[in-house]
Amino acid sequence: MSRYADIVLPLAQPAYTFAVSEGCEVGIGDAVAVQFGKNSVYTGIVWRLHDTPPKSGSAKPILAKLYDKPLLSELQMRFWEWVADYYMCYVGEVMRVALPSAIKAKARCEEEFEPYTPKRERTLRLIQEACSEETIAKLQRRAPKRYAVLQTLMAANGEVARTALDVDATTLNALCKQGFIEWGERDFVRDTTRTKALLPHLSVAQQEALANLRNGLKTKQVALLHGVTSSGKTEIYTHLIEEQLAEGRDVLFLVPEISLTTQLVERLRNLFGEMVTPYHSKLTPIQRTKIYTDLLSSEGGNFIVGARSALFLPLRNIGLIIVDEEHDSSYKQSEPNPRYNGRDTAIMLAALSGAKAVLGSATPSLESYANYLSGKYAYTHLTERYGGVELPEIVISDTTRSVKRNERKRHFNKLLLDAIAERLERGEQVILFQNRRGYSPYMECPECGFSARCPRCNVTLAAHRHQHRLVCHYCGYSEAETTLCPNCKSELRPMGFGTERVEETVAELFPEARLLRLDGDTATSSSAYNRIIGAFARHEADILIGTQIISKGLDFANVTLIGILNGDNLLTSSDFRAEERAWQLLMQVAGRAGRRDKRGEVIIQTAEPDHAIYASIGSYEQMCAKLLNERKRFGYPPYTRMIRITMRSGNSDVLVEASTALGERLRNRFARRVLGPVTPLIDRIRGEHRIELLLKIEVEASFSRAKAILREEIAALRQEGKAKGVTIICDVDI
Ligand code: ADP
Ligand code: ZN
Ligand code: ZN
Repeated sequence: MSRYADIVLPLAQPAYTFAVSEGCEVGIGDAVAVQFGKNSVYTGIVWRLHDTPPKSGSAKPILAKLYDKPLLSELQMRFWEWVADYYMCYVGEVMRVALPSAIKAKARCEEEFEPYTPKRERTLRLIQEACSEETIAKLQRRAPKRYAVLQTLMAANGEVARTALDVDATTLNALCKQGFIEWGERDFVRDTTRTKALLPHLSVAQQEALANLRNGLKTKQVALLHGVTSSGKTEIYTHLIEEQLAEGRDVLFLVPEISLTTQLVERLRNLFGEMVTPYHSKLTPIQRTKIYTDLLSSEGGNFIVGARSALFLPLRNIGLIIVDEEHDSSYKQSEPNPRYNGRDTAIMLAALSGAKAVLGSATPSLESYANYLSGKYAYTHLTERYGGVELPEIVISDTTRSVKRNERKRHFNKLLLDAIAERLERGEQVILFQNRRGYSPYMECPECGFSARCPRCNVTLAAHRHQHRLVCHYCGYSEAETTLCPNCKSELRPMGFGTERVEETVAELFPEARLLRLDGDTATSSSAYNRIIGAFARHEADILIGTQIISKGLDFANVTLIGILNGDNLLTSSDFRAEERAWQLLMQVAGRAGRRDKRGEVIIQTAEPDHAIYASIGSYEQMCAKLLNERKRFGYPPYTRMIRITMRSGNSDVLVEASTALGERLRNRFARRVLGPVTPLIDRIRGEHRIELLLKIEVEASFSRAKAILREEIAALRQEGKAKGVTIICDVDI
């Protein structure tokens, strides 16, 4: 038996070696309790067993093995390792996101450590010996209620959950007293009974797309389903899902945002029943742990709908992973480590599991589209909406010209105002989109130019009228709203506008209209979100004002007009993906219009009507060709892979010195592939200064070799003592 075990702890640290004491049998993938540091007992995972004592000091013993089954399969361990290696973090950091918190018990000392124990179900059990045919027959005549209970128990092999018995406590107590039955306890059994789904009948175009997908997946591991909004991608998925489940394989259906799961789960439950299992961070830790541990004893046939963290569930027999809205940037975890992309990680998991992956989007990412062009992915294009609904008409409204002609009122050009009035008159609904929450992005003094800034971040504070506060959107700092400039006592003016201010204006311009607002301030929980969406769907409001939240997965039958108040501020970001993102967002927002019998209209207000983004709206191929061309010319993804190295410190002198030194080191190894150090647009957050470096590696080069060099150079910098107190974060595939 091995004498040592390397154990992964939920920390940004490598695995540590512990001693396996005599009689404590642990296996790879087992959860164990170990003491780490003076005051902490952690749940760790046995990663490797061996006989090499640690180089320094003696190994502490493993305190206990925690569960009777390993928490991780061999495959999951390889998967965690891949995530850690690819996204440049520790396996322990993967453990943090991968395991639900209740299963990772932690305490100050051994005595206080309590491993997770699943809640058990109260049951009633038949005492077989007492139930002779004779006595039962007697009961049938004298006590039909009691008799019925015994019948139920017998039909269920002698044990039934209390909750499954629709009978009063007196009857049960009587039966217990008479010695017919007794109380028992067992693990909850998950209802995974499969009723064969009655799948929606597909249109001809949908059938073709499905056949194409099936065909493509015969030879390729990944297929891209490019289907315009409302083409019925979900219906196509359901056919693929049913096939897998029928063969006892697991299916993972990923969506970018938790708020989207509710509606989807409802829709899927209509087809697949209770076996549709949602999994995301809004569930309680106990609920998530329950799902995790249930799956440990499942052989397959599970259907999970969830956010990216569902990738870490212990599914044994994955046949298909669907990544819906694959272009969505919220698939990428931006903070903390592992900074992984759910879509790319899903493809890796599918490869490890020998499963297929289907990526779906109305506006595929350039990366995925390029993978189709290069022959790596199969591809299907669904160009028509289900039921022959026409795509909306897109109208560009020139703001500058409106101003010149004196046709602009507040944030609205006359064209949009007239269109809104028309819809209201016809009893139709309108969505107004403005990509900023709050009242206005900042308040400015017209005399001296003063604007209130966050004391901890280098940004202006956004005005939030409803709360009468100025709020930092980076760290949440807020202060009471001031109306007078502290320098010259002039009255401060709101500059720019957010959804709150739009709401105020609309209320003034259309006093009779009923309004709803959907943004980060009103949709604070998924129930708040559902309430707003539900109310709008029931036509309890005429106009919905929202941020990009409204661009995702919503389907309102009566919306015939979408107004985009300011197309330009989507384009101002300095990110190399700004144009791609802006364009995707416009297309997604536009997709919310005219989804049933009426053709919708989308009006985009802009001061730059000649921008290429508006010219090629509606033509995906044209837009892609243009953007891919630019990416190639300037060496951006998908033609390179990029790593952003962010350095943070409270001490700006140390930070400047450290980043300059790292920049030099990297330039020695990577030459012109290094950009920076540069000061990011927001160079101070929560009191910490920030400097960034970018590394661009050609796709033809070895990415893992490049990352190894980067690790080496960061380690050398640390060794030199030049980065004391500097946090260095590598964000892979930004
Ligand atoms: P997408 O995901 O491509 O935007 P959806 O799957 O949400 O599209 O479909 C849009 C609407 O059309 C939904 O209300 C859906 O129920 C309906 N629909 C699509 N295909 C079918 C079908 N084959 N049978 C019945 N309804 C369909
Ligand atoms: Zn002033
Ligand atoms: Zn701040």
